Amino acid sequence: MELTRSSDQKKRQAAEDYLSLLVSEIHTVVAATCDDEGRPVTCAIDMMARGRQGLYFLTAKGKGFFRRLRTRPFIALTGLHGRDTMSSFSISVRGFVEEAEPGVLEKLLELNSYMYGIYPTEESRKALAAFRIYRGTGEFFDLSVRPVMRRTFSFGCDAFEAEELFITDSCTGCGRCLAACPQQCIDASSVPLRISNENCLLCGNCLEICPHGAVIRRECCGNMPENLPGELKND
Ligand code: SF4
Ligand code: SF4
Repeated sequence: MELTRSSDQKKRQAAEDYLSLLVSEIHTVVAATCDDEGRPVTCAIDMMARGRQGLYFLTAKGKGFFRRLRTRPFIALTGLHGRDTMSSFSISVRGFVEEAEPGVLEKLLELNSYMYGIYPTEESRKALAAFRIYRGTGEFFDLSVRPVMRRTFSFGCDAFEAEELFITDSCTGCGRCLAACPQQCIDASSVPLRISNENCLLCGNCLEICPHGAVIRRECCGNMPENLPGELKND
């Protein structure tokens, strides 16, 4: 019981930490929405705050991005932090979007005062609208450590599904997957062998090479973070 509680606390803390990193350390992300033909369109947007009700950003009402969000209120985004590939971590989020209530826009502008340089007058700021990703899942992926680190998280939902690789009882312990694993993240101390999914690249080598079909993809569950900050924050 203690183990379960501790594990849940870690997941909740992780979600808060990753949303905080997204807002304060990455800030500008590439986001994708879908056009009328269902084709993805990307643009760069700033993640301006996080709060109990989600992750916040704003855009201008004249942009295609605004119209796409209103027509199909779903978004996928990725932000990168680091000098180059091997020193970087990324955070990806996909989730449902809604327009934020009155008053949120002013708060976002206060927290991100550089926006006053782009929209300097009250009249010009009437073009802006605030949005919130109120329910979403995410992935933190860190290539700067060995083995690599990959963690999933969620916000605004009771549970979420993520994909992982799993070794079933069909495993004979032959060891062929060990040499094929680029991250050495398969534990061979017992049979069936065990994959450390937090360090797995999801390259699929173990799945392809296993002569017994013992490696499978499966859905796993995470928990809702309950301790996201109530106040909007951008640090
Ligand atoms: S290749 Fe398949 S059977 Fe062999 S150790 Fe790996 S998972 Fe087990
Ligand atoms: S998917 Fe790739 S990285 Fe992950 S355990 Fe299998 S071989 Fe290793």
